[in-house]
Amino acid sequence: MTNADKPYRSPWLYDVAPFEIVKDVYYVGNKNVSVHMFDTGEGLLLLDTAYTQTGYLLLESIRELGFDPHDIKWILHSHAHYDHFGFTRMLVEKYGCKTYMPEVDLEFMTTKAEFNCCAGAGLPYEPPYDCYFETDVPVRPGDVLQFGNIKVDCYSAAGHTPGTMAYVFHLPCGLKAAMHGGIGLNTVNAEYTKRYNLGNSWRDAYRESMVRLHGLEVDVVLGNHPSQNATFAKQAEHTAENNPFIDPTEWDRFLDYRIEVFDEMVKNEPV
Ligand SMILES: [Zn+2]
Ligand SMILES: [Zn+2]
Repeated sequence: MTNADKPYRSPWLYDVAPFEIVKDVYYVGNKNVSVHMFDTGEGLLLLDTAYTQTGYLLLESIRELGFDPHDIKWILHSHAHYDHFGFTRMLVEKYGCKTYMPEVDLEFMTTKAEFNCCAGAGLPYEPPYDCYFETDVPVRPGDVLQFGNIKVDCYSAAGHTPGTMAYVFHLPCGLKAAMHGGIGLNTVNAEYTKRYNLGNSWRDAYRESMVRLHGLEVDVVLGNHPSQNATFAKQAEHTAENNPFIDPTEWDRFLDYRIEVFDEMVKNEPV
């Protein structure tokens, strides 16, 4: 039996070979959810951990690239949905990593667990649930984090969840890589908005943060889900001479496109 559309049921269908994006930045996620790994010179930093059930693929990807999971020192999260933090506790318990989560989303881990998508993955979501972990460092917009030789600027990208962050990574090679931590419309569509009685609050935040993030200097866009930024199509074209991941025009084009898609949805699905 397989569930082709459910990575948390049939994780083996989501296996993908890991690869380098630019120097010190690696894709170690699966076909559905991104996990990025940064070699900071003083340990490994993970950006998200994907599902609990895809964890074995993540560990294998790290090893395949020649790294040791014991060197994972920090785990930073884009937002508090299960598909992005599901494997975190396992890593923390085994390797003692320090965890970072957007402060505003922390309530999804505790008092408002119905929002964290555990239930959507068929898991118990009332705390204490098995994948619950303590957050060591709550992350706020405006924070500047330092992981080894990589500095990270933190911006609010609220909307998909109220705490969703955008991160800009200042890499030692001089490039700036960035991720918008959540652009999915599944939490701002009419059905979700009505179910949780959100009015226009998440929708307004979504559009406002998209507009505000416009104009950031970004050389490399990292996808929160690989499909959102054509991660695998870029990798297919990636050669020693040509790296499609480096494109200083992509960030603004990406935000413009997402605003268009969002506006279209709002027009079709008023609340
Ligand atoms: Zn999400
Ligand atoms: Zn997601």
